[in-house]
Amino acid sequence: MASYKKKKFIVKHKKIRKKIGVKKIHIITAAILMICILAAVLFCIVYFLKNETTRHSVVTKNITTDNTTLENNMTISNVTLESNITTDNTTIDNQTTQSNHTVLVKPKLAIIIDDVTFERQLNDILSIPLKITPSFLPPTIKTNFSAKLAKRTEFHMVHLPLEAMSFKNPEEATLLVDDSYDIILQKLKMLKAQFPHAIYYNNHTGSKFTADFDAMERLLKAMDEVGLIFIDSRTTADTKAPKIAKKEGKRLLQRDVFLDNVIEKEAIKKQILLAISKAKERNFAIAIGHPHKETIAALKEFAKECDEVEVVYIKDL
Ligand SMILES: [Zn+2]
Repeated sequence: MASYKKKKFIVKHKKIRKKIGVKKIHIITAAILMICILAAVLFCIVYFLKNETTRHSVVTKNITTDNTTLENNMTISNVTLESNITTDNTTIDNQTTQSNHTVLVKPKLAIIIDDVTFERQLNDILSIPLKITPSFLPPTIKTNFSAKLAKRTEFHMVHLPLEAMSFKNPEEATLLVDDSYDIILQKLKMLKAQFPHAIYYNNHTGSKFTADFDAMERLLKAMDEVGLIFIDSRTTADTKAPKIAKKEGKRLLQRDVFLDNVIEKEAIKKQILLAISKAKERNFAIAIGHPHKETIAALKEFAKECDEVEVVYIKDL
């Protein structure tokens, strides 16, 4: 009975082979094989991609080197990234949330150190591990090397002497309220030749000059012509720079906090905190200090715990 069924199957099979043709059977077999191979390749690709996603979703690194412990816990899931970094006594917490391509960054703080004239002052500034912006006084007969010193910096400004209400020792070639547009332009062109890489200028003194609308208008127009940008040190509350900037629809960067009106380290540290709070209020702030040893010491201490703001050069505000 079984043998009969087997014979019947073989006959039926032969009939099918005859009907379809041997060649066609080979083609169909090859096609089925190709489909199987493609399916296998596709499965491998899907499996690999799934694995990659899982691998990147949780990354935990623990690195310990000498006294330095660096811990990164990164979770990119629901697009959230958290970094906790501890280095020596410094703890940096970064919380960055990415959602719909929006990245929350730290408020920016620019710290300018004015009146830079001597090498020692520049060395002090460069010893602070922060992006501090030195502002160089123009060279004078007595101190004619500030422009040379400026070449050692990554970024610097020029500290432009403007007429004060009362100042016993005005800098050489201080711009005066009565100076004509041409005199101002000539002076700026000379400074531009001495400090070819400086674009930003802030005023040294200038309580009289900046409070004079016409003089400031001449200065800002001349700066525009030479391709320079004015940063208002705000040596007087009566400065006309904001009014002129508003009139011309231009952005004006101005000093928010003086760090060292009181030259004591603790007082300077309080001013740094004030600058941080100003930066948090509107995402950036400008602080101005001077190359006093107390200011340098306070900034060095701040550098160790600077985690709430990003200290940037003035150009990066
Ligand atoms: Zn100054």
